[in-house]
Amino acid sequence: MDYEAVIGLEVHVEMLTKSKMFCACQVVDFTSAKPNSAVCPICAGHPGTLPVLNGKAVEFGLRVAAALKCELNPVSIFSRKNYFYPDLPKGYQITQYEQPLAVNGQIPLLTSAGTKIIRIHRVHLEEDTGKLTHVDENGESYSLVDLNRAGVPLLEIVTEPDFRTGEEVRVYAEFLRALVRYLGVNSGDLEKGVMRIEPNISVRPVGRQKLGTKVEIKNLNSFRALERGVAYEINRQIELLQAGKKVIQETVGWNENTQSTFSQRTKEDAHDYRYFPEPDLPPLIVSRRWMEDVRASLPELPWERQQRYMQNFDLSPSEAWYLVDEKALGKYFEEVQKFSPGIPIRTIFTWVTAELPSLFNISAQPFDPFKVNAKYLADLLGLIASGQINQNTGKTVLAEMFLSGKPAAGIVQQQGLSQISDRDEISRLVTEMLLENAAELKNYQSGKLNVVNFLFGQVMRRTGGKANPQLVRAELEIQLKRAK
Ligand code: ADP
Ligand code: ZN
Ligand code: MG
Repeated sequence: MDYEAVIGLEVHVEMLTKSKMFCACQVVDFTSAKPNSAVCPICAGHPGTLPVLNGKAVEFGLRVAAALKCELNPVSIFSRKNYFYPDLPKGYQITQYEQPLAVNGQIPLLTSAGTKIIRIHRVHLEEDTGKLTHVDENGESYSLVDLNRAGVPLLEIVTEPDFRTGEEVRVYAEFLRALVRYLGVNSGDLEKGVMRIEPNISVRPVGRQKLGTKVEIKNLNSFRALERGVAYEINRQIELLQAGKKVIQETVGWNENTQSTFSQRTKEDAHDYRYFPEPDLPPLIVSRRWMEDVRASLPELPWERQQRYMQNFDLSPSEAWYLVDEKALGKYFEEVQKFSPGIPIRTIFTWVTAELPSLFNISAQPFDPFKVNAKYLADLLGLIASGQINQNTGKTVLAEMFLSGKPAAGIVQQQGLSQISDRDEISRLVTEMLLENAAELKNYQSGKLNVVNFLFGQVMRRTGGKANPQLVRAELEIQLKRAK
């Protein structure tokens, strides 16, 4: 029997506000800040304190929801989700349950199979929990609690179970990460846990409507882990069913070392949480005016930009996405392109996405394409296109531009890098070189044809790489034929 996967995603996004969701504590970097250095009686859950909602967090939530084409709820309600865990100082999490910030959105994925709309079920506001570190040393085991993260604003985005393949899941995760970055809501650092993607996976025989039993995967903290985790879980479930066994509803964790999932807990139902409206917070009312302002202020969205790059520049979906995801690089590419009429897009793409970044790699500098003036790079491409310098000299000039910030033409002139395209001169150079390499010439004549490359290299070396390579090859061929 053939099975298909059915997947729905829950994504938690920490929001880059200055302060926490319901108190004035600063949001700090949890990987580096001193534990429990950003805590107050409110986020520590002391009795008698009162939460006050962070307006910026609402604004961020609205922006994401609007970008996902959701219906924004004019009135949304905060609830208490009760459960006991040491990282949850109040004994409950403030979240939105029955009436979330927004519902019924959509996102247009572009996969190898074409465009597919994934429906967004809901987008709601909540607060993060603290962080536990489990220590096991010298025969003692205990847990450390850090409340710096407790009360940090979170946005939860839940899809309908519309995904069928791991590729769709990956593209969604990439799109969503780019979105929260574009909107300034989140840094997108999966490794730091500031964006957490939790797939719910079930399988069913192809053609059946009814959904199978789902399993949720947690702690997938990279795109790689997400892809592997989803593939692993789909296979595990299909094998169970094929063996006549049943999938049990549970939450599993991803183990990076064994590349497999392990059971964490069998799933609670909503009634286990005893949800009820948060009595300390009034309903959140979002005015029509506010919603309109948010919608009007949305920037070009990542998937819109991808389409524009594909259409205007004739780039493939993955090339276009590369420029979208590396936002600064995309902006830079557009600048260079504007200054380079008549230069093929493909040439610009190669220089901007390969030659330029390699200079940063070599010098181990943080990548900032604008370090090389976009107009200067365009000028450089012009010099190559008109034959004033060759491709390889172009790379030398770029490296020099990277170091000195000088314009291309100046560098070419100062260093005498102009291409040698004079046929007579090239002919003379080839003749000289053959005289000096009589032994190699003999080898060639006795049938070692690949000596040609060596001879070609000799001419290029003599000219410091400045000779026009096509002309050198042609001339070399002529003289070798003659010498036969
Ligand atoms: P829970 O309350 O357990 O979190 P929800 O009903 O809120 O469950 O759904 C969570 C996510 O799981 C949603 O993205 C939803 O689309 C998805 N989902 C629900 N049922 C299934 C299923 N049978 N198979 C795959 N995904 C599912
Ligand atoms: Zn606080
Ligand atoms: Mg869930």
